[in-house]
Amino acid sequence: MTLATPAGHLWRPYTQMRRAAPPLEAVATHGTRIRLADGRELVDGIASWWTAVHGYNHPHIAGTVAEQLARMPHVMFGGLTHAPAETLARRLAALLPGDLDHVFLSDSGSVAVEVALKMAAQMWINRGVSGRTKVLAFRGGYHGDTMGAMSVCDPEEGMHRRFGAYLPSQIFCDLPRSAAETAALDAALAAHRDTLAAVIVEPLVQGAGGMRTHPPEVLATVAGLARRHGLPLIADEIFTGFGRTGTLFACEQAGIVPDILCLSKALTGGTMALAATIARTEVFAAFWSEDPAAALMHGPTFMANPLACAAANASLDLFETEPRLSQARAIAERLAAGLEPLWRVPGVADVRVLGAIGAVQFARAPDLAVLKAALLARGVWVRPFGDIVYLTPALTIDAADLDRLIEAVAGVVTELA
Ligand code: PLP
Repeated sequence: MTLATPAGHLWRPYTQMRRAAPPLEAVATHGTRIRLADGRELVDGIASWWTAVHGYNHPHIAGTVAEQLARMPHVMFGGLTHAPAETLARRLAALLPGDLDHVFLSDSGSVAVEVALKMAAQMWINRGVSGRTKVLAFRGGYHGDTMGAMSVCDPEEGMHRRFGAYLPSQIFCDLPRSAAETAALDAALAAHRDTLAAVIVEPLVQGAGGMRTHPPEVLATVAGLARRHGLPLIADEIFTGFGRTGTLFACEQAGIVPDILCLSKALTGGTMALAATIARTEVFAAFWSEDPAAALMHGPTFMANPLACAAANASLDLFETEPRLSQARAIAERLAAGLEPLWRVPGVADVRVLGAIGAVQFARAPDLAVLKAALLARGVWVRPFGDIVYLTPALTIDAADLDRLIEAVAGVVTELA
């Protein structure tokens, strides 16, 4: 059978291939701009799915990766090691709070979450505790597209709901924003005490679940309850890690040290596929044994890819040498000044700003195709979803480009809300 697919042979993400308009062809990137094959240049409002924190083509990352490419693009990580990975692990351990010191490298955010779930499960197995097969996750959360990661995403969330029968069944609670929700979380943890292996949370903002922010106190409550019930807390900082919320890691704002922390996206400044799952010493200790079967049973082929590790080290250099966190805070101020007045537009349900994240929520989901076209017509690359239009620009964005993004969002919201 042959199907007429104007888009050719590529099967694109989250896309109804039959109906979707052909995608725009990008031919080059630079700074906060994406150049298209038809000559247009778009201001990127979302930093390529929240990754390109230093903007595109930063010469320090490009130069470091080019050197590494000439020396050793890849080598397997089973039985071998290399300086880019050793250095990266040492630097991450030094940057992360507390004794988050044990770094497992993989190649995507979803896999970092899978590894975290397996770490928690095997930690209990290695301790000789059986039956702890579930994870407590929060409604509205998003942790990735692989099977384990999908199982801890919001259970009602459309994208993954149809796979429900294939996924491990988990326990879901609301984030504890009120005394009643705190009591409900406490009760759920107590009720499932013997079957839970871990609690997983996105610190300070549920990203793909709707850019829903929560104050640090809510995160501190989650951490406190997980601890009280003797459960490891997995902090999924795949979106928030590396400055997005105004601090290097979102957990810092709540003063907590999770037991396992996941990073990806901006780890390489958005240049290469790399992820890390980092464990505290108490978790790692459960794997420290004479028994070969107690080893962590995971090992992606491209884990610790030297090019990606070199890119990550170069990205960390930039956090040391360039003022990313103050840039994030300046973006927060400008986003707040530019987006918060949209509260007054009829049809706007909410406006949220946290660090370099600004989101406007419509009272009624607009026609996404119309919304996307209206944004494109204003020369910006912004990808609304559901009832949300949001900005997560590069932390290096200049005031003029940021204002262009804000004006574009304000314009389409005023027009279409
Ligand atoms: N966790 C969070 C919080 C995310 O935002 C994402 C992606 O958006 C993921 C996990 C999955 O990462 P990836 O798309 O690299 O698999």
